[in-house]
Amino acid sequence: ARAQAMQVDGSPDVTYDDIGGLDEQIQEVREAVEQPLINAEQFRTVGIEPPSGVLLHGPPGTGKTMLAKAVANETDATFIKMAGSELVQKFIGEGARLVRDLFELASENEPAVIFIDEIDAIASKRTESKTSGDAEVQRTMMQLLSEMDGFDDRGEIRIIAATNRFDMLDRAILRPGRFDRLIEVPKPNWDGRERILEIHTEGMNLADDVDLAELASETEGFSGAELASLATEAGMFAIRDERTEIRREDFENALEKVEEDDDTAGTPIA
Ligand code: ATP
Repeated sequence: ARAQAMQVDGSPDVTYDDIGGLDEQIQEVREAVEQPLINAEQFRTVGIEPPSGVLLHGPPGTGKTMLAKAVANETDATFIKMAGSELVQKFIGEGARLVRDLFELASENEPAVIFIDEIDAIASKRTESKTSGDAEVQRTMMQLLSEMDGFDDRGEIRIIAATNRFDMLDRAILRPGRFDRLIEVPKPNWDGRERILEIHTEGMNLADDVDLAELASETEGFSGAELASLATEAGMFAIRDERTEIRREDFENALEKVEEDDDTAGTPIA
């Protein structure tokens, strides 16, 4: 179970340059996670504790996982990922033990970045969790808090959690010494969208009539993940048409398709 619940990646290949529109967030992550990892001695000399845990919050598909992977990559740290939802859905009754294993695995693989995705699954406000597994979820969260509280020298292990339901979180996990550094990861603005489109079309064979700035204007409200799939869809249209070059019309078709998919997803089931 341990192997399934945790994904270990010795050297993730995401770099800061692969992330578009999040310059401030990258700066904050570097300060809170990277500096203490590569410069633990400086924190000791100055006599301050680095932030314990960093919480990334924002809509789905905006680059939270990428940020965590990039910081692990840039510091040559092992990246260990655990999904909160899996802890409560797939490994019922094992949550607390898996959290213990997670920290053990990290200390065997220092320096390490622990990434807990969907932390809301194990750390929601009590009043809002109505599932029968309540007590078990509670135990899992208590174990996480005690692992974090019990950390003396966190120099070599850093913890990053992510959520897209910030307001559902139990405030206990935000106390000093726990996830005490909050970083908001929003959907990209126009500049961000243009940059993300550039990143995702970099290796693509684009025709001259493709205008990424214009596409950035046409994709207001898109997340990074949605922009990435727009680029892939455009490529699919070119392939269907047996072309090797992606044209403006492919992007227009892709936009229509992505928006249609969106409409279907948003339709309430009667
Ligand atoms: P979730 O909350 O759904 O887990 P997330 O915020 O962790 O989402 P990621 O997994 O980091 O999102 O992003 C999913 C994919 O979307 C990435 O692999 C990448 O292709 C693309 N993407 C998202 N955000 C960005 C961005 N800011 N720059 C470039 N690509 C992005």
